[in-house]
Amino acid sequence: KTFQDLGFDGMLMGTIAKQGYENPTPIQCQAVPIALSGRDLIGIAKTGSGKTAAFVLPMIVHIMDQAELAKGEGPIGIICSPTRELAQQIFNETKKFAKAYGIRVSGVYGGMSKFEQFKELKAGCEIVVATPGRLIDMIKMKAFTMFRGTYLVLDEADRMFDLGFEPQIRSIVGQLRPDRQTLLFSATMPRRVERLAREILSDPIRVTV
Ligand code: AMP
Repeated sequence: KTFQDLGFDGMLMGTIAKQGYENPTPIQCQAVPIALSGRDLIGIAKTGSGKTAAFVLPMIVHIMDQAELAKGEGPIGIICSPTRELAQQIFNETKKFAKAYGIRVSGVYGGMSKFEQFKELKAGCEIVVATPGRLIDMIKMKAFTMFRGTYLVLDEADRMFDLGFEPQIRSIVGQLRPDRQTLLFSATMPRRVERLAREILSDPIRVTV
């Protein structure tokens, strides 16, 4: 399969080629058409599978499709990741793809002072890549509202649970619109993650690589 087979238009094809990606990975082949169709998704996949691009590229299409929403404020796409290191990796990859479209990406995790982060978020962004604790801090500080959030990615959900982030995840999900699209990625599906998935995803399609 090629990226074109997955349903990307010409503009995004150029951005993908610039990254040096020739062909989609198995998780991209399976997850991208589902994500582009607007359905919720459970992806059982590990780091190294190319799952970041599998959720980021459809997120960019989703944001570009929301021309009227783009005038509002607050992020449209929210990506939650268990650790600062992982969030940073996703942030870097997301920026590469988003740049060509004028989509602003903010990293919401430790490393920057909360005040600096607050100021950056106040300036506006369409995508946040966050660790759950810092994202909650920024919401509490009213750095942004979640009203525009319609595409949520929970990455490495099992690790977020291992690190004790279940309450934060539930709080974040609770602030998002019920008509959002939700994608949950996890290397394993312990019962607690399965239960969360049943509660917060609607009629998800499950893919395993
Ligand atoms: P990930 O599993 O998302 O952390 O991705 C692992 C690595 O594979 C990253 O360095 C990506 O930039 C790279 N990658 C993702 N998709 C592709 C692809 N279709 N072709 C080549 N490299 C890719």
